[in-house]
Amino acid sequence: MAQAKKAVSKQAKKQARAAAPRTTVETYHNYIGGEWVASASGEHFENINPADTRDVVGRFALSTVEDVARAVAAAQAAADGWKRLPAPRRAELLFRLGDILIRNKDAYAAAMTREMGKVLKETGGDVQEAIDCTFFTAGEGRRLHGFTTPAEMPDKFAMCVRQPVGLCGLITPWNFPMAIPSWKLIPALVCGNTVVIKPAEDTPLSTINLVKACEEAGIPKGVVNVVTGYGETAGRALVEHRNVRLISFTGSTETGRVIAASCADRNAICSLEMGGKNVIIVMDDADIDNAIEGTIWGAFGTSGQRCTASSRVVVHKKVYKKFTQSLVERARALRVGDGSDAQTDVGPVINAAAAHKIMGYIEIGQREDGATLACGGNRLAKGAHARGYFIEPTVFTNVAPDMRIAQEEIFGPVTAVIPTNSLEEAVEIANGVRYGLSAAIYTQDVNRAFRAMNDMYTGIFYVNSSTIGAEVHLPFGGTKATGNGHREAGTQVLDIFTEWKSIYVDYSGKLQRAQIDEVNFE
Ligand code: NAD
Repeated sequence: MAQAKKAVSKQAKKQARAAAPRTTVETYHNYIGGEWVASASGEHFENINPADTRDVVGRFALSTVEDVARAVAAAQAAADGWKRLPAPRRAELLFRLGDILIRNKDAYAAAMTREMGKVLKETGGDVQEAIDCTFFTAGEGRRLHGFTTPAEMPDKFAMCVRQPVGLCGLITPWNFPMAIPSWKLIPALVCGNTVVIKPAEDTPLSTINLVKACEEAGIPKGVVNVVTGYGETAGRALVEHRNVRLISFTGSTETGRVIAASCADRNAICSLEMGGKNVIIVMDDADIDNAIEGTIWGAFGTSGQRCTASSRVVVHKKVYKKFTQSLVERARALRVGDGSDAQTDVGPVINAAAAHKIMGYIEIGQREDGATLACGGNRLAKGAHARGYFIEPTVFTNVAPDMRIAQEEIFGPVTAVIPTNSLEEAVEIANGVRYGLSAAIYTQDVNRAFRAMNDMYTGIFYVNSSTIGAEVHLPFGGTKATGNGHREAGTQVLDIFTEWKSIYVDYSGKLQRAQIDEVNFE
């Protein structure tokens, strides 16, 4: 499967290069120990605009095991100084970083749309999320609360403090190329860790922009390092490096499983944010127009390439016809095109392999007995769409809960509408997938809303709102195959990037044995 994906991708890149007009393409290096350096191999890979494959966004260092080792050594050399800098001082640099991100927001958003395709208002939102995360988390520099608690013996004091974990390897996906690196980087730094980041091969530029801003903010050399390149080489080298204490990964469940096994082998800490198959439940008392808005936004925003995308809609039979008719009408009216065009609603998908996979699922849906392709289903490849990876917003209706299109993560502009008879059945269907990231219910009945809120086994739940749109001060993550029990964002992320140390101070001047010596009333 991975081989086939690569072959499709390589062939597409070759065609793109052949057709490309000759323009100067900027070359970007790794950032190691405060210097921008070429990879040890001297080789590069190209970052292609998915809306126009002739447009080469940049050439990026194709990093090797050697580059990763250099980055890890730089992060190690910087670790002690950074850890000893008081947290409020570390945070001051992060507040400065936040100001730089604000200043460059539009430029970063434009670069992001060019490298990964989502429409400008969404890439602006991605940068804004990084800004929000920076300011919220930098505030922890003056908190990072531990706690005190009574000790069971007299003249004894007990407390718990947070300690930095150490050297962190951050591995990120392409769909939120500035927001997700910031979710990991900013808390790692405020907690006193040094980092090596390996961004997704499709979107290295947004991470490089974030790291350039760190450099401008004055974050000391070696504290933040970036190596660009492929997952199987650079990513794997980072995961396997014995001096990397923690791997924080966001990406597919398949990759996450490999990373978790590798971390287990060398007792490294591992936090995983992985795939989703999210669901909107629409009850018969719902505000249908509002539910349609939420479904269109959740299913087709970022061309359905969000981990929280609304890829299933479970609709009560009493409103099923009205809902599906209106959904199809709205989906057909969406304008698919280049994300940098203000008129575009839905941009391209990320690359040739993704387009191939999504079209494969559309074929599977058409073959599945009983499902109806209600709209979309085509690759757009003519006129303005000729040079990009464009797929029509696609709605399947009459989908059964056990069909593959209702079970597997498609990660494209495709949603499956499933009819239901009751709330109980809807919740059972909604929970009946291997993932557990985000779910939503549209209803005017507070009892139904609370019932679903209680019974859905997901990390995120919305009432009368779509499955997408998380805010940075609440914890983010999922259950089952979506995660391994950690949460990013909020203050909960501090539990990933610190370890607790319990401290006992005995000032009695004698040996006191917990659980053994008796303490009596005098
Ligand atoms: P992916 O798993 O293919 O790649 C993610 C990152 O892992 C990339 O940087 C890649 O280079 C690296 N990688 C790949 N193989 C590796 C290996 N063997 N060792 C180390 N690193 C390796 O995922 P993707 O296609 O970039 O992203 C899409 C997936 O991410 C979807 O499944 C989506 O649901 C998920 N995602 C989850 C969240 C979340 O918070 N739960 C957020 C965004 C995306």
